[in-house]
Amino acid sequence: MPKVTLADGRVEQVPEGTPIGDVLGPEALSAKVDGVPVDLSWPVTRDVDAEGLGPNDPEGLRVLRHSTAHVMAQAVCDLWPGAKYAIGPPIEGGFYYDFELPQSLTPDDLERIERRMRGIVAQDQAFVREELDREQAAERFADQPFKKEIIDSAEAAEGALGETFSVYRNDGWADLCLGPHVPSTRRLGAFKLLSLAGAYWRGDEKRPQLQRVYGTAWATQADLDAYLHRLEEAERRDHRKLAKQLDLFSFPDELGAGLLIWHPRGGVFRMQIENYLRDIHVRSGYTPVFTPHIAKSGLWETSGHLAKYRDNMYPAMHDDNDVDYFVKPMNCPFHVLVYKSQTRSYRDLPMRLFELGTIYRHERAGTLHGILRVRGGTQDDSHIICRRDQLVEEVLRVFDLTLQIHRTFGFKDFVINLSTKPGIAIGDEQMWTEATEYLKQALDSSGLDYTVAEGEGAFYGPKVDFHARDAIGRLWQLTTVQCDFALPERFDMSYTGDDNERHRPVMIHRAILGTIERFVGVLIEHYAGAFPAWLAPVQVRLVPIADRHAEHARGLASLFAESDLRTEVDDSRETVGKKIRAAQLMKIPYTIVVGDKEIEAGVVSVRDRDGREVRGIGVDAFADAVASEVRSRSVEGVDLDRLLGAGPETGTA
Ligand SMILES: [Zn+2]
Ligand SMILES: [Zn+2]
Repeated sequence: MPKVTLADGRVEQVPEGTPIGDVLGPEALSAKVDGVPVDLSWPVTRDVDAEGLGPNDPEGLRVLRHSTAHVMAQAVCDLWPGAKYAIGPPIEGGFYYDFELPQSLTPDDLERIERRMRGIVAQDQAFVREELDREQAAERFADQPFKKEIIDSAEAAEGALGETFSVYRNDGWADLCLGPHVPSTRRLGAFKLLSLAGAYWRGDEKRPQLQRVYGTAWATQADLDAYLHRLEEAERRDHRKLAKQLDLFSFPDELGAGLLIWHPRGGVFRMQIENYLRDIHVRSGYTPVFTPHIAKSGLWETSGHLAKYRDNMYPAMHDDNDVDYFVKPMNCPFHVLVYKSQTRSYRDLPMRLFELGTIYRHERAGTLHGILRVRGGTQDDSHIICRRDQLVEEVLRVFDLTLQIHRTFGFKDFVINLSTKPGIAIGDEQMWTEATEYLKQALDSSGLDYTVAEGEGAFYGPKVDFHARDAIGRLWQLTTVQCDFALPERFDMSYTGDDNERHRPVMIHRAILGTIERFVGVLIEHYAGAFPAWLAPVQVRLVPIADRHAEHARGLASLFAESDLRTEVDDSRETVGKKIRAAQLMKIPYTIVVGDKEIEAGVVSVRDRDGREVRGIGVDAFADAVASEVRSRSVEGVDLDRLLGAGPETGTA
């Protein structure tokens, strides 16, 4: 009798042909046998190592979600006979399925589909795996053009399926699928359909547009409820909505997709970020450089961009003299030219060049998402050119600066990846091994925790990515640090060593925020628009109660401006209540209501954006406290109560 060795070390002998599910616990939804995912019905015919995958295991949860996607597609086909279904994979947080239907689905339809799904769950239909040959598969899906296309193209799919096609069927509905699945529909957990979207078949804008239904599925109702709450919170923080409410930036049609303009408030906000970046880079030993937005094609040929990155570049511009120019997708080659503008010696190294460099990338229309993915953006870009013996030290300095900058913006928790050689790459194997080794060495001596992401590097070198965790636990990839031996080779960069010989330097590419645009999107969502005072476009808004208080309010505003505070007087004809509400909607850190009492006593009544009010604060005490909050780039607001006892009141105006 074959032996099954379980994850906890237990060994069981079972009669040949026993379903693996019989050996595993009742929690298991699917299994892994010798590392390969299988259904619980998988028959044991030899000695194996086996492990049950339950809904609390990430892989088990994916099986649960994907099985729910099948049932959703089955429900759609029940409700709309003749529906054509494309693909329905599990995704982060849930699943989707794409359909071609004669009519557009509406949110009401989602409820109908859910009801039908519950009917299928109640019937406890078994998921049955079948293996069909090409002909049988083509026959089974004769009325499903998308499935037929998958069957026809499977030859080219690197033998993933070969001539055998695995099909999962429950009741009369079937899908081409490698599985595994849960044993039957009753084993699905708590699910909900969330939204509708358009999606192109195969992601190709030239192919039919399909209707995508998104859903989520969890082991329990409590897990589902918690997830829905997180979604609600994410929606409240949606940067697209908040950017409009706070009047920060917009994407006018006239510009084209993925291109934005910064409004005055957004401009002030962005300038705070840029000023801080310039300042901290200069203090950290970087030198500013400036480079143009376009360059001749020769530069991009040498750099390898035209060969490896052209899909992401805007098309060429033709000059009268038959020269092609390209707008830059990266700043790197320009910084190489800065380096090469002089003969360099070992004493010049490391050279740390810094630029807020605006780049343009022709991102696919479907991937654009508000300010988080744009076609024109400004990177906080640096290239550090150094000797090999300086490389680890320089990378470590970049890690330190990265943490320092992110902490200033209020991020404390990071997930770090080391990404290795991707499919499309320049440079030889040994170069990649060596560059990866340097990054690994730096990571190991930094004491930071990291994981290795195979094949995720840039085309010219391996990289380290920092993902920052936001206020509601989401991770955002921001920082990349890349180690590059290829570009110095391609551009024949050199320096004279202390041995008087010519040597090849190495290059670190790094952007800490990524693009300012994307980072601003992340900041908006992290703070739900309620930025720390140092970043807020307006820090203090003055609200006169009546017209006769306006002059005093303007006096206070100029007084605060002397402490470099950004102020605004709301002398509109609205009621005080409405003005206060407007200031809160604009998430202004401090609102000061000015009336007779305050003028007489020479004090201010201050409200924060949560609506808490503290009356009778000395004017100077308030100005000093906020000015010092701003100067120190604190992410905590001033404790207004503490200001009440702060010395004599020295009201002016
Ligand atoms: Zn499936
Ligand atoms: Zn670069």
